[in-house]
This record gives sequence, C-alpha cells and structure tokens, in this order.
Amino acid sequence: MPERLFVCTPSKLGSYTDCPRRYRYTYVDRPTPVKGPPWAHNSLGASVHTALRNWYALPEAKRRPEALPGLLKGTWVGEGYRDGDQERTAYRRALQWLESYVETLEPGVDPLGVERVVAVKTAVLAFNGRADRIDARTGPNGPELAIVDYKTGRTGLDVDDARGSQALALYAYAAERVFRRPCHRVELHHLPTGTVAAFDHTPESIARQVNRAEATARDIMAAERAVTDGADPDEAFPVAPGPGCAWCDFRRTCPGGVGAPVKDPWAAVERTLLPVTPTTPPVTPAAE
Ligand code: SF4
Repeated sequence: MPERLFVCTPSKLGSYTDCPRRYRYTYVDRPTPVKGPPWAHNSLGASVHTALRNWYALPEAKRRPEALPGLLKGTWVGEGYRDGDQERTAYRRALQWLESYVETLEPGVDPLGVERVVAVKTAVLAFNGRADRIDARTGPNGPELAIVDYKTGRTGLDVDDARGSQALALYAYAAERVFRRPCHRVELHHLPTGTVAAFDHTPESIARQVNRAEATARDIMAAERAVTDGADPDEAFPVAPGPGCAWCDFRRTCPGGVGAPVKDPWAAVERTLLPVTPTTPPVTPAAE
C-alpha cells in the first residue's frame, strides 16, 4: 500500500517542530485539552490582517486612507486586552500602522491573491496554506510572483527570518505550481516599523525547506502510528519545554509548562504599544 499523504498547513508543521506535545494537544487529542484565555496580540494581528484583506476588496477608487477606520472597526477583535484603555490605544496604533502601510502600496495595482489558499502535493505532503498576499511582479527574467506575509509583533524582522521561514518557502513552492509562474521572492512586511525583510530563494533553498517539511511529516506520521500501535502518547509526543511555554495555550494543562512564567493575555501587546524606534530596512542579500 502506498503511504498516505500527510495533509498539512504551515502552522501544523510548525507546531510539531516547536513542540511535539503541543502538536498532539492541538491536532490529535479529542476533546482538545482546555486552552488558556485568548491572547491580545493574536486579536491585534487578526484585526490588522482582516482590515488589509478588506482593503483590497474595495473598488480601486475607494482605497483611500479615510476608509481605514471603518475597515479596522469592522474587523476589530477585542479579546485579551487588559481594559478598554489598552484596547483603544491598540486600535489607534493599528490604524497608524495601516495608514503608513497603505501609503507604500502602488495605486491601481491589485495583488494576484489576497489571503489566497494555495495547495500542492509532494511525495509525502498534501500541503495547503493561506498566503496573506501573492503579488504578480516583473523580475529581471519576466513575470514572477512574490509571497507577502504581514507581521504585527513588536520585534523588527530581518533577512534571516525571511530566509528561514518554512511557511513562506512552502507558499512560494505551491504558488509557483498553482499559477505556473516563477516564485522565489518572499517578504515579511512588518507594519509597526514599516520595514520589509526579503529573501530570494533558489530552487535549492526551496527544495531544502520542502525536504525539511517532508521529514517533519514523516516524524509526525511515525508518532501517530506508534500511538495507534499501543505506544504511550506522552512518549510518542514528548514535551519540549522552553521559552515558548510561557505563550503556549496549553501551559496550564501540560506538565512541561509547569515552571514557565505566567504571562498576562495582554503582555505581548503591552510591549508592542511601547514607542517604536524606526529601524533601517534590512538589506536583501544575494540568493542563498
Ligand atoms: S507548555 Fe511547553 S512543553 Fe507543554 S505543550 Fe506547550 S510548548 Fe510544549
């Protein structure tokens, strides 16, 4: 019997890479173990992402900065904030980010895809994922695609983040096959600082990321098979305690998260709302 393909998204693969136990709690155990309360930084990120998606749904003539308050209010997620004051501050900051960001967009240019699902199969994976944006551009060799991912965390991102992102590489791999156009450019657009961290993949660097994703998928399938065959689920999906435990939804129920510092749901947003010092945009290096 041929081995079944592993159906996955970037977050499913990333979850296992970060912590096999978190993967099990999220994707295997049913009912899902009790999660902690919603995080305000997730609410802020979701609000900004949806506002940008809806920006592109407007007719070109209505894509004006005046439309942004309505878009942001319409998509605002208010969960996890400390209080109304903090939430209002976050809303104002998010609006500033959006106002600055849309200034940088080329008028009259529509992306090829906005929150577009791309799917592809390999020998091991049945991959699908939703890219924030897929741009159609003209490169030195003709038409090509670029994958754009919006970021709203406080820390500025650099070229290594763009280069190392398995999710972006898999989106590029899938988009190239779905649209039959070269796609090697991946970009992280950090709205709080207005910077772009970009990387131009080579076929080899994309292949390395696909190989890594396939290796992760094989590990996951082996762990799931072991449990089916009677292995202890706690051993098949071990805990991986680390700094991520403090931000893990399952910290309260997981033995690996016992010693992790307790973070308020608004802790990350509190840092994000501190004044930001603009940074110099990272330089794009030659292809890997
Ligand atoms: S608390 Fe830590 S060890 Fe436990 S599932 Fe979450 S990340 Fe993994």
